[in-house]
Amino acid sequence: MKAIFLDRDGTIIHDGGYLYKPTEIKYFSDTFDVLKKLQNLGYALFMVTNQSGVAKKMFCEADIIKVYNKIQSDLKAQGIKPFVEMAYCPHGPEDDCACRKPKSKMIDDLVAKWKIDKKNSVMVGDKLIDAECGKNAGIHGVVLGQDSKDYPSVKNLTEFYEWLKKHLG
Ligand SMILES: [Zn+2]
Repeated sequence: MKAIFLDRDGTIIHDGGYLYKPTEIKYFSDTFDVLKKLQNLGYALFMVTNQSGVAKKMFCEADIIKVYNKIQSDLKAQGIKPFVEMAYCPHGPEDDCACRKPKSKMIDDLVAKWKIDKKNSVMVGDKLIDAECGKNAGIHGVVLGQDSKDYPSVKNLTEFYEWLKKHLG
């Protein structure tokens, strides 16, 4: 299957700065609409997120799951299929782990597990490391909300959807 891997903070929801309380989740105005349209194009959706707040002891892994579960139930309430799976890296930059974006292990593992069609799949996020992670995983990488000379860039999720329809369909 083909898949869209989405970063969480600054991409699916506003970047709350080490957000860990489900009550503080704020979606972008087009989040639900675009996620639904991506699914209608036949893409499976995955969340791929660096959560170094765990390494910094600002919150724990259970908090990441709580936020994810809240997002999943919000999607269902909107009549949208939930994410297939979330992958998160709880480490910090100095841990030199294999999973922290821009390294590609989180995507590599999901690709292997779900037999993802890499040629038709994309990693999208608001940081350059998101697009770089996509490239490192051998899929497409798109940057959202900032310009890039190295990767396709779009203003927001709605523009990402337009980019996708035009380049992959
Ligand atoms: Zn890690």
